[in-house]
Formats: sequence, structure tokens, C-alpha cells
Amino acid sequence: MPDMPLVVWIAFAGVLGLLVGSFLNVVILRLPERMAAGWRQEARDVLELEADSTPLPPGIVCEPSHCPHCKHPLSARDNIPLLGWLLLGGRCRYCKTRISIQYPLVELLSGVLSAVIVWKFGPSWAALAGLVFTWTLIALSGIDVRTQLLPDQLTFPLLWLGLLLALLPMFVSAPSAIIGAAIGYLSLWSVYWLFKLITGKEGMGYGDFKLLAALGAWMGPVSLLPMILLSSLIGALVGGSLIALRRHDHQLPMPFGPFIAAAGWVWFVAGDGLLQGHMHMTGLR
Ligand SMILES: [Zn+2]
Repeated sequence: MPDMPLVVWIAFAGVLGLLVGSFLNVVILRLPERMAAGWRQEARDVLELEADSTPLPPGIVCEPSHCPHCKHPLSARDNIPLLGWLLLGGRCRYCKTRISIQYPLVELLSGVLSAVIVWKFGPSWAALAGLVFTWTLIALSGIDVRTQLLPDQLTFPLLWLGLLLALLPMFVSAPSAIIGAAIGYLSLWSVYWLFKLITGKEGMGYGDFKLLAALGAWMGPVSLLPMILLSSLIGALVGGSLIALRRHDHQLPMPFGPFIAAAGWVWFVAGDGLLQGHMHMTGLR
């Protein structure tokens, strides 16, 4: 690695994060559409119906960006992460329809979190793995907010990557990663069934178990309890304020994935510090 000061690396990661953020927006929008089309196709096969003649929704990589309302293709300058949206005042250049705040938010989040990862790990392979971890969690959270789904296409690769990195090992040892993945899955699975037996309702989905399994593979079993507590805390705060602001009906299900993802990311970056701070406060050290 050339001798560049850390601040240059952090700035570089921030810009890279913004660019990847634009791509994550496309994934968040198009992956669920592609999945739904795939399910319709499978269902027709099982029912032995004629194949669906409607064309598949656009692919994730090959289709150029366009305004979702008037379908006008976007020029290069409108496509600049964050700045494009700001310069347009949040409206399409051609039809003046409002462009969802999701786009600049995801880009900003991706840029800031990517910079934090490189600040934490320095220019290293661990930082590169951390960036992939971060971007996958952002895509999963965005899809869960929009569709209440955590696609296997993202949770499984995250799980496999966590297990494989433990072979080096990078963040935790291989036994830790394997046990972390198993306990991560089983802990939420048990909560789900307990909740269902007591209340007859489904409190979360299988995607949540898979996501926690993936996080367990990256950070080991010791991280699981703090992550569950932290995600419940973040969920209670966000859910409580949304209901207080009457932005969310408490009868409607709320996606839990973004809270698990947020807790996982915070623990990934600050877990060691939080643990030490807690031991310090309780006089364990
Ligand atoms: Zn338009």
C-alpha cells in the first residue's frame, strides 16, 4: 500500500460509499421485483399454467437509470450521488415529479458508514470485508423497509462470507463463527415460536433468523445477546417515535431486519469499545 495518510483513505472510502450507494438504490428497488417475477413464474410452472408472457422486470446491472414516473433516462450529471438529487431540488428534471428521499438517504448513509469503516480498520483487508458487510446490510434494510422481506440472495452470501473469513481468521475464529451462526438462527427461531404459541401472531420472519445467523458468523456467539438487546432498544425507540408521530399504525407489522442490521453494524464497529466501557462502569476492570 502506498504511504497515504489515513484521512485520504477515509475520504476515498466516503466517495466510494456514495457511488456504491447509488447502486444499492437500484438493488433495493429491483431485486424484490425480480424475485416476485421469479415466484410468479414458479407458481405457474407448478400449476401447469402457460408461461407468463409479460416481460421480466429490468435487470439490476444492465438497465440504465431512468425516472420511475416519466421513464426519461437520466443524464450523467443527474446521476451523481447525493449532488444530483440536491441540484435538482428533489424533482425529476423532465416531469418535475418528486424523487423519493430514499435515493439521497441511502447514498449518504453508504458514504458515511463506509468512511467510518476505513477510519476504524485503516487501509486493510479487514476494511474491505467491512465495506462489503456494510453495503449488504444497507441493501437488506432498504428492501425490508419497502417490502418486509430479507432476501436469501443477500442473507446467505453474507453468512457464507462470514464463515469463510473465519478460516483466515479475520474477525473471529472458525469455531466461533460456526457456533455464532447456529445460535444466531436458533435464538430468534425460539423467540418466534414462543411468541407464536403465546399470542398466536407472527412477530418476525425467517429472514430475521438468517440475518442474525449471518451476523453471528461474522462476530461470534458472544456478540449475539448484545446485538439482540441493542436491536430491541433501537426498534423500541424508532417504533415508539413513529407511533407517537402517528406515522405508523401499531397494528401493522414493522420490519425488524433494519434494527438487527443497525445493531449488528454498531456492534461490528464499536462492540469492543462498548464492552470495555460497560466493564469499566460496572467495576469489572
Ligand atoms: Zn420524470
